[in-house]
Amino acid sequence: MKKETLLTVLILAGLVLGVLFGQYLLFDPAATAEAQQQIARPYQTAGNFLFIRPLQMLIIPLVFVAVVSGVCAIGNPSKLGLVGGATLTYYLATTLIAVVLGLVLVNVIKPGAAVSQDDFSKLQMAGRGDFEAKGGVSEKLTGRPEDVGGSFLNLLESFVPNNPLRSAVNGDILAVVMFAIFIGLALVLTGPPAKPVIEVIDGLFAALIKIVMWIIWLAPIGVFLLVAAKVGEKGLAKLIGPLALYMLAVLAGLAIHLFVILPVILAVLGRCNPYRFLWDLRKVILTAFSTASSNATLPVTIEECQTVGRCSRRATSFVVPLGSTVNMNGTALYEAVAVSFLFQLFAQTNPQFHLTLSQQLVILVTATLAAIGAAGIPAAGLVTMAIVIGAVNTSLKALHGPDAAQLPLWTIGIIVGVDRVLDMCRTVVNVMGDAIGARIITRIAPD
Ligand code: ASP
Repeated sequence: MKKETLLTVLILAGLVLGVLFGQYLLFDPAATAEAQQQIARPYQTAGNFLFIRPLQMLIIPLVFVAVVSGVCAIGNPSKLGLVGGATLTYYLATTLIAVVLGLVLVNVIKPGAAVSQDDFSKLQMAGRGDFEAKGGVSEKLTGRPEDVGGSFLNLLESFVPNNPLRSAVNGDILAVVMFAIFIGLALVLTGPPAKPVIEVIDGLFAALIKIVMWIIWLAPIGVFLLVAAKVGEKGLAKLIGPLALYMLAVLAGLAIHLFVILPVILAVLGRCNPYRFLWDLRKVILTAFSTASSNATLPVTIEECQTVGRCSRRATSFVVPLGSTVNMNGTALYEAVAVSFLFQLFAQTNPQFHLTLSQQLVILVTATLAAIGAAGIPAAGLVTMAIVIGAVNTSLKALHGPDAAQLPLWTIGIIVGVDRVLDMCRTVVNVMGDAIGARIITRIAPD
């Protein structure tokens, strides 16, 4: 068996065994949520230690050297402008398509309208509890809660970091990408005196990629531990019940985006067999799925795109690191479905919550922005969702006057319980959106 195939088989085995082990040996339906967490914690810790932390260790150095080396490889600043423009257009177009797809599905499936009154009351009670138990999701927002401007001010600040070292220490990927672009440009324009520096950076890049290849061999055990911990904590039964239709809407949207829309875009613009590409990048898919973090997956994405994915170093180094925080198709789609679902649910008791076309447009814009603003870490999309709810609430006020009904933020608690599995799936779409972008941009920036 080839080494590549063996690794895939081992990772898949880790996934399946993780589900079985978590469900049958760890999960105890009679235990309280807290006791369940205690049981699952050692597995989560071991998974973090063996797989997530080694990947995290590489993120900032790898992003820095990858972007500097990519910008230097592009060489000509006007070419860089072309690549940058095409990349941002790709990010924005695919994100908007994802949100529209989510809105269409949630309007067709109507998961919120299908919940019975009895289930609705139970969901509200549990949701409030879950929200409070998590310390109020909105408190984790970096800007003012419910305020699009507040969150985006933070995002804008990342574009020009006042202290790049502090940004690096804080793990602020966007700021590091921006700083690296400036350094790369300056190295190119400096010419011959800067050549040795570029060579050092290229050498470091190759060395860091080597470390990623070592860490990938830890994936089977890492995937097993992380999946077992999550299934053991919540149990698979959480996946059915009144939220099943909502989950179906999200998962159907993610599947259509990943297996139909992005492949069509890749086939047309990237001129390659898209399913072959998805298959070639299976390790990226499995890593994203098990870590639920675009950031943690980033080293694997960069390495795999350049090797098995046949993307150029120039395209990968630019599109993938920037995309890991800016381009989140899965999160955008998810936010559109989740917020519409919550409004549908509450429209059962208050018709003011029926969303009109103009409110759906508000969702289109804010879900796109919220996805751009979400960090590539687990549950980030759940947090930035407060922005979308806040914006729709404001538009309800504009429509019905100052006394208009407002959807409270604690309603996010209703979907917290089933978020992890959706998070794992939307992270796959987020990450593959970047990889597919790199393959497309390879056409205008080949090595
Ligand atoms: N976990 C996702 C990611 O890292 C972000 C999200 O919560 O939607 O890409």
